[in-house]
This record gives sequence, C-alpha cells and structure tokens, in this order.
Amino acid sequence: MRYISTRQPADHRHTLGFEDVLIAGLAPDGGLYVPTEIPQFSAAEIRRFRRLSYPELAAEILAPFVGDAFHRDELLAILEDAYAGFDHRAIAPLKQLGSGEFLLELFHGPTIAFKDYALQVLGRLFDAVLARRGERATIVGATSGDTGSAAIEACRDRDNLDIFILYPHGRTSAVQRRQMTTVAAPNVRTLAVEGSFDDCQDLVKAMFADAPFRARHRLSAVNSINWARIAAQVVYYFASAVALGAPDVPVSFAVPTGNFGNVYAGHVARRMGLPVAELVIGTNRNDILYRFVETGEMTISAVEPSLSPSMDIQVSSNFERLLFEVSGRDGTALAAIMASFRKTGRLPASPEAWAETRALIRAHRVDDEETRAMIREIHRETGELLDPHSAIAVAASRAKGLKDGTPRVALACAHPAKFPDVVEEATGIYPSLPAHLADLMTRAERETPIANDLAAVEAYVAANVPGFNGVGTNEASA
Ligand SMILES: *Cc1c(COP(=O)(O)O)cnc(C)c1O
Repeated sequence: MRYISTRQPADHRHTLGFEDVLIAGLAPDGGLYVPTEIPQFSAAEIRRFRRLSYPELAAEILAPFVGDAFHRDELLAILEDAYAGFDHRAIAPLKQLGSGEFLLELFHGPTIAFKDYALQVLGRLFDAVLARRGERATIVGATSGDTGSAAIEACRDRDNLDIFILYPHGRTSAVQRRQMTTVAAPNVRTLAVEGSFDDCQDLVKAMFADAPFRARHRLSAVNSINWARIAAQVVYYFASAVALGAPDVPVSFAVPTGNFGNVYAGHVARRMGLPVAELVIGTNRNDILYRFVETGEMTISAVEPSLSPSMDIQVSSNFERLLFEVSGRDGTALAAIMASFRKTGRLPASPEAWAETRALIRAHRVDDEETRAMIREIHRETGELLDPHSAIAVAASRAKGLKDGTPRVALACAHPAKFPDVVEEATGIYPSLPAHLADLMTRAERETPIANDLAAVEAYVAANVPGFNGVGTNEASA
C-alpha cells in the first residue's frame, strides 16, 4: 500500500509507505496522507468477519493499509496487546436502546473516550517502528483536557517514546486533569501552562517551528490526522455492522463530529465494502460542517464553548480528506482551495463537490438545550446515561437515520462519568467512574506549573528527555 498527500500534484509519482506515513503524521506540503487506493472486502469476506474477535478483525482491516511494514503475526500481537486492558470483552459493545436503535459504546478503554480505540494502537505501532530503527521520539502536544490523557495512555511505558503534554492551568475539569497528572510513568510529563489552551497550542507549534530543537529532540505528534488512527477507527464500524447482520443488512451510523476523523473512518468503511445506509454527523453550535452540508457554504466563525467540548472546533482537519475525494483527487486544485480557505475564512468548494458530499453524509445540529433534553429523554426511556457527545449522536440518528427498519447505530464516544455535571443536571443522577478509575480522585497528582514562555518549556523538555547516552532524569524538576 502506498500513500500520497492530499495537496500533491496529480501525477502521484512520489508515494510513501505506511511506516513513513505513520511517523510523519502530516505531509510536508501541509496536506494529509491518503492511500492511493482503498482496499475492498467482498460480501463473503465480510460475512466471515462475524466469527472474529475484535483484535482479529482489526488485523484483517489494518493489514492491507499496513502492507509489508508489519508481519501479520506482529500486527496481531500489537492489536491483542492494545485492547487487552479494555474493560469490556467485546471491546466495542452494542447496546440496544429500542427497536432498531443501538448505541455503540466506545468508552471501554483507559481514558473512557473513543480516542483510545485508535491511540492505543498508534502508540504501539510508533514504538515498534522506532525500536526497529534504533531511534527515540519525543511526543509533544497541547490539550484542552480530553485528547491529552488519551495520548498519555497511548505512550506511557513505551520504551522509545517520551511524551510532554501542555494544558492550561486551572482550565480543565478535575477529572480531565487527574487523568493526566496521576499517571506515574517515567516517560510522561504534564505541564500546567499559565495561559489558555490557545497559548498551549502556540507553544507546541513554536517548538515544532524551532528546527534545531525539533531535530535535537526528534519531536513528533500523535494527532488526529495520522492515517493509522483513521484505519484503526474503521474497525468498530465493521465490528458493529457485522454484529447487526452486515453485509446482508445495511446499517446507518450517527457520529458526534469535531475534527471529522471518526466519521471519515465510517466513510472509509463504506468504501471498503461495508453496506452503510446513512452516515450522519451530529454537531453542536459550532456547526460549520452542518452549514456546509446544508448550504454548500463553509465559513469560519469564532469557536463557542458548548456542553460537548470535544466538538468545539471550527476547522475540521480531516474534512480535507473527503474534500480531496469529492474534488476529483486533484491535489493541485485542493492546495489552492485550502490556501484560499486559510486566507479568506471561506471554502471555495465547487457545486459538484458539495453535491457529492451531500450524497455521502447527512448532518444535524443540536444545541445545548436539546443535548440536555436528549440525555433526559434517553434516561427516562431506557435508564441509560449518555454523555453530551453521545446524546448529540442519538439526536442526529433519530433526526436523520432511515425509518424503514435499517438498524441505526449512534456512536457513544465518551462515558457519562467523563462529563458528570451535565448528566446530573439533566437526570438528577451523578454518574460514577468505572472500576479502573474509581480511585482517580484520590490518587497522587504530579502537577508541574510552567510559565507561558517558549524558552522555559523548551528548557524543561530538554532537561527531561534522556540524553544521547541514554540516561534520563525520571523526576519532575518542579
Ligand atoms: C474527539 C471527540 C469527538 C470528535 O471526534 P472527531 O474525530 O474529532 O470528529 C467527539 N466526541 C468525543 C467524546 C471526543 O473525544
């Protein structure tokens, strides 16, 4: 399997293998990597998937994307290990809400949100490639609360990785902060920056822009545009659909959407041969994708806080992959479109690209009031507690899923205990953390406050990565 950037000229002479795409993340031209062709599974092959465990299914799905970068046995061993710590034997279990209506629970990993499903795999693949090359890498990232803990859990205790996560001091929830600051692994550092989330992001960008620093510490990222993350997310679409009768029964999915990575994986699953009837995105008041699907206009406005903070995004990075496809896979044209979007805040998509997008996905917008109402309604109807992101998925599924008996699956992307206050407000019940996190609020924390200052952050990173002699300092310096 070979990969190209969404922004490279259409002659496609320059292609990369999986290993390089995995380590690079973003392409040097600013584009995102996509495979030159999407592998296909026949109906007979998909029928056979019904007998596989989740890691075995993941190996089937990832194998064509990975190509010869990993032997099949090594890949399966990595996947078995990645999902061994999940707290449900099905890994991604389905729960029935009503007739033909299902919830796909994607919160059984270490940080109780769906990002674990891909990041647990990504961290291990990364580590394996580095080991093979005799290299180390330093992962740096900024978080407003949620993705940081998933990245930390993915990288902790990996032999060839160090991870530094910057978060805004005092501006994350206690649960979010503790999921980061209580991890007692020698290769994990969390920095409480005296500033906002944007300040944290700016510091990370500045570290990457500091070429000598970047090279000296081999900076890398495990962000949501990595193709391996998309590929790993394809697996639960197949797992849930075959459990409901695919390929002989088509299935609809509704996905709470921010960066467009999760729903894009659903689109890839469909392209691989899975019969997906409707693919519905749910957005909160940050509704740029909803507006594009409805009107063909994509215009950036300010990000507004909502009850579903993981979807408080204006520019959905992974949407570029779909745009590439609906714009005739013309990287030169797409590079111009993206440059204009960046400059003017308005995406000049062609009417054809819009029409094709509308044929592939539907969209529904849910405000905070409706989110609370949906949490209350589902609790009254079924006794289930939904987190706000999952509630948006159910609302989108009910609004735009097919009503003809096609099973409708809403993706439950976070455990209700991750956003307990909203759940309590809506239902009167304060959701409790699952067993593996039950003592989170009493674990010892290691907080490292640091100034909103590039030199201070770089000095801290430099002092805390193992040197070229392989000797590291394992104590936080502050
Ligand atoms: C990250 C996240 C989302 C958004 O997923 P994308 O792949 O960015 O669209 C939705 N819900 C939860 C709980 C998340 O953590």
